[in-house]
Amino acid sequence: MNSEKSTSELDLDCDVIVVGSGFAGIYALWQARQRGLSLRGFERGSDVGGTWYWNTYPGARCDVESYNYAYFFDKDIVRDWDWSDACAGQEEIQRYLRFVAERCDVLNDISFDTKIVSAVHSEESGLWTVTTSHKERIVCRYLVLAIGALSEPKTPDIDGVDTFSGDTYFTSNWPKDHTVDLTGKRVGIVGTGSSGVQAIPEIAKTASEVHVFQRTANYVTPTRSGPMDPDLVAKLRKDPHAVRHASRETYGGHTPLDIGKERFLELDKAGRERALSEAWDGTYVPLAFRDAYLPEANAAISDFIRGKMLEQVNDSWTANHLVPWDHPFGGKRPCMSNVYLQTYNLPHVHLVPLSETPIERITTDGIETTEELIPLDVIVYATGFDAISGPLFAIDISGISGKSITEAWEDGPANYLGTMVHGFPNLFLPSSAMSPSVLSNMATLAEQQIDFIFDSIDWLENHGRPLLHPSTESQNYWREETLSFAKRRPGALSTKSWYSGANIPGKPRVFMVYCGGFKRYNEKCYSELMDGFPGYELIP
Ligand code: NAP
Repeated sequence: MNSEKSTSELDLDCDVIVVGSGFAGIYALWQARQRGLSLRGFERGSDVGGTWYWNTYPGARCDVESYNYAYFFDKDIVRDWDWSDACAGQEEIQRYLRFVAERCDVLNDISFDTKIVSAVHSEESGLWTVTTSHKERIVCRYLVLAIGALSEPKTPDIDGVDTFSGDTYFTSNWPKDHTVDLTGKRVGIVGTGSSGVQAIPEIAKTASEVHVFQRTANYVTPTRSGPMDPDLVAKLRKDPHAVRHASRETYGGHTPLDIGKERFLELDKAGRERALSEAWDGTYVPLAFRDAYLPEANAAISDFIRGKMLEQVNDSWTANHLVPWDHPFGGKRPCMSNVYLQTYNLPHVHLVPLSETPIERITTDGIETTEELIPLDVIVYATGFDAISGPLFAIDISGISGKSITEAWEDGPANYLGTMVHGFPNLFLPSSAMSPSVLSNMATLAEQQIDFIFDSIDWLENHGRPLLHPSTESQNYWREETLSFAKRRPGALSTKSWYSGANIPGKPRVFMVYCGGFKRYNEKCYSELMDGFPGYELIP
């Protein structure tokens, strides 16, 4: 439905509205200010942080190194923030984001505890009217929905979820008041993705019994922990802008300081064994080889990781069920933990592989599989998110001719360069579908996309303020381009994962992550801008 209220230039409240205050949102507000645009920010949480505000489950941390998972736009911020750990925990990352928001002086621009319920484009004025959960209406010229790709929790699709009489928690919305005490409790955990893998070892420290309901086994490789290397910190602080520039030249948007330089397929047998062991013991396995996603290299790396995983679990039945035999490394988002697999060596931790004994229903007393009823006091759902389109569909968005985003994406996400959708002029979507997204470093992506968005806005401001949206041809091309790269990545299309919407029953299957590499992505964005947006339509 289109606007209940027609808008005109006279109604304009501010140039830019930014929704969300995670990595992208905070930086977007700062960028708007730098460019002399008037702005308002909205955040449904009570503080900044986005993902790092909501996901406070035990063990929540970032499995990407802190020096990678940080901003580089401001050298003082890089100089003045000390990470306590090579891979920081949730509390520290949330504190970091607050520190950055304070430094950028954007906290007063954000209305907290405020959801955006609708966003309506007016063809008459070219402006957007945004309505909040407090029924405030604000009219802006540019709308930036920095609402995250993984911010709309998936409702567990299991019979009887509401009948359980014990306590229920979601990793994606863990109580923030630190009142959850699982000491001596019989806990069931559903889900073994990145969140489950981090939460399970922590929960096992106090619970009396832990039953892990695993639908699909995942690759689990070591993660870094311990203090940051002071030499590395010194190098990063020397010239943050050079680091930022160099990161955008890599495949995954990671600082190039310790990305593996070797090509697996160019090594002989002894060299491969040496390099794999070094990757396992010291570096970060997903980044160890430049050719890790060529099929032959990927198959060998997958086998190596499976072997290493088997070694860590004493009971061979459990070990075999924890190993992902069904998909290659990288087909789903790999998990990282130094303690997850060993947790299954504890006598009170039990694996329930749903491939053999699926859940039939949740009852008042626990979880019933095809084999038995497992009595529980607490159920923890680490069941993931309705990724990318979920957060967007939670807002009633309507563009040209009143077409809603839900209608526009009926057959799955469609956009150009991962940021704009045909029929929704001046609506910008960082971390959306078909951007490098989670196959890259999300912090680098946030900076790159927000730079591109605000450079585009600058261009529009300097060219008579036309409205900008991509052509349908560009969208079709971009979907094909994304698909063509996905076809080359082992397991991308054959593995059931949230990357393609396969975790949500009924969701259209579209591979939603651009895996052509960060460098290529950045170049494509900026060639559009340099050439005056040939892939877009400009509405005068
Ligand atoms: P996820 O990866 O989607 O994992 C959800 C888990 O729940 C999967 O094991 C899934 O099984 C299972 N599941 C879902 N519905 C189920 C059902 N009805 N019955 C049984 N099992 C069910 O979600 P996540 O662990 O929250 O992670 C999401 C993403 O967040 C990650 O991929 C990553 O990008 C990001 N993340 C990052 C970090 C970090 O350290 N950087 C930490 C946490 C999360 P199937 O696999 O069979 O679907």
